Amino acid sequence: MLKYLPVKFLRFLAISCLVTLISLGFDRLHPVKANPTLIAQNAWAGASFPVENFQTYTSGFGYRSSPMDGSQQFHAGLDMAAPLGSYIRNWWTGRIVELSDHTGCGTMIKMQSGQWTHIYCHLMGSVQSDSRGTFLIDRSGGIVLTLGQDIPAGARMARVGMTGRTTGPHLHWGLMYGNQYVDPALVLNAMYGSNPSGNS
Ligand SMILES: [Zn+2]
Repeated sequence: MLKYLPVKFLRFLAISCLVTLISLGFDRLHPVKANPTLIAQNAWAGASFPVENFQTYTSGFGYRSSPMDGSQQFHAGLDMAAPLGSYIRNWWTGRIVELSDHTGCGTMIKMQSGQWTHIYCHLMGSVQSDSRGTFLIDRSGGIVLTLGQDIPAGARMARVGMTGRTTGPHLHWGLMYGNQYVDPALVLNAMYGSNPSGNS
């Protein structure tokens, strides 16, 4: 009997750790579903559709099978196809809080607008740093952005590219409220009073 106690205890510990890990980390990936009030509360009149020459939504928010190995992956954004070089417009007046070009997201802008964080991936151009700061530069698009810069809603701030992990030109648009990902389709739905993604 005594011999088995440590095993049971270890199993208990393992399960406790797993539960803690799930509640700490994985929870962030859960979409905000029961939050229509939050989204309805915003005055969306000042918000901009984030991409010009929009064609179609190619991948929605949520779990999907990886095209590589079929495993389940969380897609924390909305993929919006548009021709290569189409201008991306800042969704909501805010500040550039991160610029990078070394992840699967490709050349990326992260904006902060109050509690909202908006993320734009697979952009044209590259990110460079020098003594004056960090910049996103897309010369042929006439784009130079500086980390920390304020950008008004609707301003052309980047172009649709093919950087990072992507099979075709599109904007990957991510949204967070606080530290939780939100389905961008819910916000577009609130902005335009329709259901842009075709799923609720
Ligand atoms: Zn995506």
